[in-house]
Amino acid sequence: SYRKGGYHAVRVGDSFAGGLYIAQRKLGWGQFSTVWLAFDTRSSRYVALKIQKSAPQFVQAAVHEIQVLSAIANGDPSNAKCVVRLVDHFKHAGPNGQHLCMVLEFLGDSLLRLIKYNRYKGLELNKVREICKCILTGLDYLHRELGIIHTDLKPENILLYSTINPTKDPTRSGVTPILERPEGNANGGATINIIEKKLKQRARRAVARISERRASMGGMGAPPKPDRCLDGIDLRCKVVDFGNACLADKPFAEEIQTRQYRAPEVILQSGYSFPVDMWSFACTAFELATGEMMFTPKSGQGFNEDEDHLALMMEVLGKIPRKIATSGARSKDYFDRYGDLKRIRRLKYRPLDRLLVDKFNFSDTDAREFAKFLCPLLDFEPDKRPTAQQCLQHPWLNVENLTQDEVKSESSVEKMNVGMTNLQIKVEWQCPKN
Ligand code: ATP
Ligand code: MG
Ligand code: MG
Repeated sequence: SYRKGGYHAVRVGDSFAGGLYIAQRKLGWGQFSTVWLAFDTRSSRYVALKIQKSAPQFVQAAVHEIQVLSAIANGDPSNAKCVVRLVDHFKHAGPNGQHLCMVLEFLGDSLLRLIKYNRYKGLELNKVREICKCILTGLDYLHRELGIIHTDLKPENILLYSTINPTKDPTRSGVTPILERPEGNANGGATINIIEKKLKQRARRAVARISERRASMGGMGAPPKPDRCLDGIDLRCKVVDFGNACLADKPFAEEIQTRQYRAPEVILQSGYSFPVDMWSFACTAFELATGEMMFTPKSGQGFNEDEDHLALMMEVLGKIPRKIATSGARSKDYFDRYGDLKRIRRLKYRPLDRLLVDKFNFSDTDAREFAKFLCPLLDFEPDKRPTAQQCLQHPWLNVENLTQDEVKSESSVEKMNVGMTNLQIKVEWQCPKN
């Protein structure tokens, strides 16, 4: 893909926007872009530089993403709505063409990596609650205030970050959690190490290089050194990747969402709106708590992936109401007129709370409470799903709101204690802010 119209090849130390941004290391990539950690020499902060492929369709996609991200930034001046912030954008000419570049606030690892580093065992429920609150805050903002549907919500598109409690040290903020591989970690739990040693070293070297450069340019003062901090961390996350986002009143794609997080109305093509994000959110919450995807459809003999997907949904959530099953443009392909699947006849029904107990070893209480939170979000009728705003009020998200009995139940108390000690925060490196 590093050819005309494709990615722009970057080397450590490359400069962008006339020396404003210096590339430090590659953070990730996607179908559209490569993303680099860069040092912003103007604000002396680290940023994520998303460098889009240069072919016209990618340029157009970047223009769209910049528009969406600008609306997001304009509506949230205090940057508190759990959605990634666009800081700047510019064009960069390279051997493969003209690349649109987005400068984004630098965030940490994705929830997918968090799940992976936790060895696909599922996170402690109190962590899941905190993460859910962040995602819902982001969705509520996008849906209610901006009218934007994300359309590709999934663990990969939610990135961790953290802030230091400002009352502890008001001069420090903007730290970023990067997870460390759990190799050699006997108990296998995800140890949340706030930044990789390698990155710290590289950052130090980068800062040293920039220092030298500045000194040779007549001295603009040495940039601050990456710092270490050990406490007062409050883990948060933000929603990213707005390349597929759309306005609810101007949906442009028929097939949206990554397969496993796709809502039934998208499969059936009965039209979609904000509730598709709520469906993906529920699938994401399930995956965080169990370590496994909620639905992993596969085609088989005599049925395709869509049909298997619908069957899997009905096995946990019950039969799709006939009215819903038969209302989409694709309904006739999959359902008979009674609302039964044509090609998959025998379904093994196992409700969500049973699944959580039998397969994932949840306690009865935890399973019941979590299922009560998730099931309304997985209503086959999109309009019946709670909105992000309503969901934020759900008692499951707030332990304090649980009844005394529930709080006292052994499993909750035990899990809460584990929650406190599980989070081993070792080292933190911070991006100094101006
Ligand atoms: P996709 O094919 O998923 O649409 P894309 O080309 O649009 O990919 P993104 O998903 O936006 O690119 O970013 C690619 C990867 O870069 C992410 O998965 C993540 O690892 C990393 N990344 C993106 N934004 C940031 C950020 N603000 N801070 C840190 N890392 C980031
Ligand atoms: Mg992505
Ligand atoms: Mg994208």
